[in-house]
Amino acid sequence: MQSFIFLGPPASGKGTQAKDLAEKLGLIYFGTGDFMRAEAKKQSHFGQIFQRVWDEGKGNLVDDDIVLEFVKAKIEEIGQEKGFVFDGFPRTIKQAEFLNQELKHNLTVFNIEVSEDSIVSRSGTRKVCENCGKIFFKAPVDKRNCEVCGGGLIHRQEDTPGVVKKRLEVYNLQTKPLIDHYKSNNALVEIDGEPNIEEVALEIEEKVNERRSNN
Ligand code: AMP
Repeated sequence: MQSFIFLGPPASGKGTQAKDLAEKLGLIYFGTGDFMRAEAKKQSHFGQIFQRVWDEGKGNLVDDDIVLEFVKAKIEEIGQEKGFVFDGFPRTIKQAEFLNQELKHNLTVFNIEVSEDSIVSRSGTRKVCENCGKIFFKAPVDKRNCEVCGGGLIHRQEDTPGVVKKRLEVYNLQTKPLIDHYKSNNALVEIDGEPNIEEVALEIEEKVNERRSNN
């Protein structure tokens, strides 16, 4: 069984690519950000903890111990009969070590690379549908509704310049070391995230096929 991890800085497009790959291969999309926002909305036990972290400062990571308890429960709830596409997890070495122990699947890790200039310009023009979560890159200022579900579009607080800077700092400090971690496990595949969504998706598909034919 094969699972995939998407690494990349904020606004690298990894969320879009992870959802796309999960759909194409019939795998489970495992986005911890989406899962955590759903818990916060429900105001569940975990949700209240997550909300507290975000209220203290958008861009801060939730503590490893809490995240691991939450992810362990999620994996048990979903089961491991199908492969996963992880987005936003793991984000620290401790989380990666936990996953190595917990997961029964082989891992391929895509690292989506984009320049800091692209991160800043993409975040500035990115809007998200409040209803279905679809992301619109380069959305014109007057674009207010989602063409998929008709929901209202918002410029997320996570995409404001101060929060983007903070998220990038956190990424560089805590998540970037995972690149070397997975390189040494021979699981890492580098992806150029600068081209448009369709071209990046094509490159990912090619790499998936290459790895399949090599195994
Ligand atoms: P995302 O949508 O992936 O950017 O996640 C939104 C927020 O949820 C992050 O800024 C963190 O506060 C929290 N979060 C999501 N995944 C993790 C994780 N693996 N470890 C710690 N915090 C996380």
